[in-house]
Amino acid sequence: MQVKTTILSLPTEEFVHPGTRACTGCGLAIAYRVGLKALGKDTMLVVPPSCLTVLQGLFPVASTALSGAAERGDNFIYFCYDNEGYMNTGAQRSGTTPIGAITANTPFKGKLQQKKDVPAIMAAHKLSYVAACSAAYPLDLFDKIKNCMHLPGTKYFHIHIPCPPGWGYDPRYGIKIGRLAVETGYYDLYEIVNGEFKLTAASEKLVEKRKLVPVQEYFRTQSRFRLLTDAQIADIQQKIDEKWAGYYNKDE
Ligand code: SF4
Repeated sequence: MQVKTTILSLPTEEFVHPGTRACTGCGLAIAYRVGLKALGKDTMLVVPPSCLTVLQGLFPVASTALSGAAERGDNFIYFCYDNEGYMNTGAQRSGTTPIGAITANTPFKGKLQQKKDVPAIMAAHKLSYVAACSAAYPLDLFDKIKNCMHLPGTKYFHIHIPCPPGWGYDPRYGIKIGRLAVETGYYDLYEIVNGEFKLTAASEKLVEKRKLVPVQEYFRTQSRFRLLTDAQIADIQQKIDEKWAGYYNKDE
């Protein structure tokens, strides 16, 4: 069994200079810093248009066509950091904005559509490795990067990134909110290695505990969810419970 990285065994070498031009409290800075520690110094970055471009690279020098490259099986690791909106341009709704979230262009009822399941779309490409991570669990991210580097073809990472201005919370609560997303079963940490699905880290522990924090606790931490009705929350809770019943059944 692979030894889990702890905060004490995390490499001390830094690949990101001190300071950041991201917003105060942005989860991206954590995922970026720890992810680069796992990748090491012989790494080439390609950055599509996003908040990360304020730190690294600009279109069209640093852009991608992800599905085509994955279908060809090009050998690279793709990190999709999911702040659940077009935050770099003023917090508009995107395909991964969750249902009910208020954004700059869904101001009155929140987003009406479900969040797009991008890791599932990438898994449909039959990749050797797909992972769902969170900036609130950087050691899980580190270990997953290390685990997948020897695998062939395209490897895909989806990283949940709490975003203070886009989600509407005090920057100091980013990690707490990222953890709540996992503890409520709303966002799951997992990896799919050559088609084999496995929950990881705090999500794996939730299967043992069989006790989720009510999703309402997550919603009440962010002003973007202030228009969610009780009926909508009950519907989302039901979907989470059904998903987790599936996880519990697999475990039996
Ligand atoms: S807008 Fe959000 S994701 Fe972008 S840098 Fe600011 S906090 Fe980070």
